[in-house]
Amino acid sequence: MADKRDYYEVLGVSKTASESELKSAYRKLAKKYHPDVNPGDKEAEAKFKEATEAYSVLSDADKRRQYDQFGHAAFEQGGGGAGGYGGFGGFDGADMGDIFGDIFGDLFGGGGRRRANNGPMKGANLRARVNITFEEAVFGCDKELEIVLKDECTTCHGTGAKPGTQPTTCPKCKGEGQIVYTQQSMFGMVRNVQTCPDCNGSGKIIKDKCSACHGTGYTSARKKIQVSIPAGIDNGQSIRIRDKGEPGTNGGPRGDLLVEVNVARHPIFQRQDMNIFSTAPLTYAQAALGGEIHINTVDGDVVYEVKPGTQTDTRIRLKGKGVPSLRNKNVRGDHYVTLIVQVPTKLNEEAKEALRKFDEACGNVNLDEKKGGSEKSEKKKKSFMDKLKETFED
Ligand SMILES: [Zn+2]
Ligand SMILES: [Zn+2]
Repeated sequence: MADKRDYYEVLGVSKTASESELKSAYRKLAKKYHPDVNPGDKEAEAKFKEATEAYSVLSDADKRRQYDQFGHAAFEQGGGGAGGYGGFGGFDGADMGDIFGDIFGDLFGGGGRRRANNGPMKGANLRARVNITFEEAVFGCDKELEIVLKDECTTCHGTGAKPGTQPTTCPKCKGEGQIVYTQQSMFGMVRNVQTCPDCNGSGKIIKDKCSACHGTGYTSARKKIQVSIPAGIDNGQSIRIRDKGEPGTNGGPRGDLLVEVNVARHPIFQRQDMNIFSTAPLTYAQAALGGEIHINTVDGDVVYEVKPGTQTDTRIRLKGKGVPSLRNKNVRGDHYVTLIVQVPTKLNEEAKEALRKFDEACGNVNLDEKKGGSEKSEKKKKSFMDKLKETFED
């Protein structure tokens, strides 16, 4: 570790190299030194690992910053830091999956991560969706999901071959599942790896197919799966159910089932993270005089005491009436209610009269007189002058 080469030097780029420069530099090296292209060549393998390590650090903005500041020491202290890159030795390190999918996706003719040479491989993840109501998301619920699950064929035990027969090693790829070929290009000899077209990468050829599974080794069946949806889940979040995905190959574990939750909109409530928002109407009298009102919450009706003189758009908080935390359902958000004072649009005569009286009692000018305009107030002025005159004339 003492004479470790500088990562930039390894990739042959400058310290200011952009992300795409890094990527293309690494891609070139990976093509040149990949173990599939240089079987048995220890030096090439070491170079490949060195380049992969350099790229995995420099392609991550955080790690690159640490490296720029502290050099290799950033990842060597206490063993813990270096542990994060423990996957360098193999090509199946989980944290390397993205990099390989990204870089090698086109290198190996699609399919993302490279198929391990007939080794145990985890099955693919399955995805499903479930629709739930707003309240179900708030309080959690149990749902039954019907999905088509693949299982190992019980007739051939997953080999795909008719009982009594065995799959034979593919002659084209000699059981490797891949074909390495070299090509002359303008950059020199390029060695390339392709999935074997005869066996589709399995390395095996089945002459007599199992009739139960048509040679696939799997049978599919609709299965009911119980999904426990935790309180506080939000629209678009997924629940992972272990081992309910596609079966693994060569003894690998099953993949997982990822259930995405689709939460229906609520007619009254809106949600943002752990808080719920809604509005509540208030009559003019309630707003002015104060009093009890009923407010709809996810826990049912709540009685709230409105203060006299409450203005429209006043926002109140109902503590702990929001959505529970996904981590701890005893911790809940709040429910914010905006009180909207309603202005009546339809009034009967009695109500109108009451309002006029109310306005008068408040010391406001009589509505009818105001409506009459200047002519009426002119008259009023005149009569006042007349009265004055009369007083003096008397
Ligand atoms: Zn079968
Ligand atoms: Zn083959």
